[in-house]
Amino acid sequence: MDPNASSITVAVRVRPFTIREAAQLVFDPPEDNPVQKFTRSVVPAAGKKVKDQVFAFDRIFDQTATQSDVYEATTKNLLDSILDGYNATVFAYGATGCGKTHTITGTSQHPGIIFLTMQELFEKINERSDEKVTEVSLSYLEIYNETIRDLLVPGGSKQGLMLREDSNQAVTVAGLTSHHPKDVQEVMDMIVQGNEYRTVSPTAANAVSSRSHAVLQINIAQKDRNADVNEPHTMATLSIIDLAGSERASATKNRGERLLEGANINKSLLALGSCINALCDPRKRNHVPYRNSKLTRLLKFSLGGNCKTVMIVCVSPSSEHFDETQNTLRYANRAKNI
Ligand code: ADP
Ligand code: MG
Repeated sequence: MDPNASSITVAVRVRPFTIREAAQLVFDPPEDNPVQKFTRSVVPAAGKKVKDQVFAFDRIFDQTATQSDVYEATTKNLLDSILDGYNATVFAYGATGCGKTHTITGTSQHPGIIFLTMQELFEKINERSDEKVTEVSLSYLEIYNETIRDLLVPGGSKQGLMLREDSNQAVTVAGLTSHHPKDVQEVMDMIVQGNEYRTVSPTAANAVSSRSHAVLQINIAQKDRNADVNEPHTMATLSIIDLAGSERASATKNRGERLLEGANINKSLLALGSCINALCDPRKRNHVPYRNSKLTRLLKFSLGGNCKTVMIVCVSPSSEHFDETQNTLRYANRAKNI
């Protein structure tokens, strides 16, 4: 692969039915039957005329896909470019309850992308330790209502942190803590603790609806073991991002503050979509609208250019989520349609 080519890979993961969803099945429901909303087949809500709509993606994972299936076909491929000094970004996109956090963080029995990535990263660094000195540091933050908070300070940082762009093509977050975990277990302990501090707010759609974007940044600095002391390190950042739920504010009957949150989330996700589209369009590549949101400003040097991007789009198999699934696939299709 041309190391100078930026690339985006879009994969879709369909999660299994939850216990509640799996327990309900209505065979050939009448169109006006409210229970129809909970049937197992994906049927459009009454009045919708969408049949056999086909979307094609780089990868599709069905309900039987394991965490390592998803990791091997998506994020694993980024490790070598990171170690070669190129930034890379992995997103989990989708409505609340569709499996983003499961995919990115997972459980202790089924650890997700962060665990599998860090495990292999530490292995690779070990293998190269005769020739290279490599330092790994990480930070974990959330963007909630366009405010940046550190997820790795006890209780979560209270004030919003400021973004700074420095002279050597890097965006830093002033005051953000940086950590040097020695093994993958230490990383997972930090992430699990950080997730506890994430801002969640109850909405009509889901009591644990997450309205914040959680951004893990793994910074890698390396140098040849026999290099001159004055020689600079090669730097690269891998960003792994559990995006806020993509459901629209209107779908969750939000009012007031919650509605404002929804608007902000859509703004960040919209800005992300616009940036990805612009990066992929040769006519727009010089005018990528990074400045439109905190998320895209933070990722300015981690999208496009020499960077590789993976978007893992999470969807529900249930007809209950028909509209959300359709919106999600449309967004993802645009991200890929380049
Ligand atoms: P999100 O972060 O998108 O809101 P979650 O990752 O929290 O969604 O998933 C919602 C529920 O579904 C959780 O209970 C989670 O454990 C379960 N789940 C999601 N994806 C899978 C999967 N691939 N396999 C098993 N359970 C899953
Ligand atoms: Mg989540």
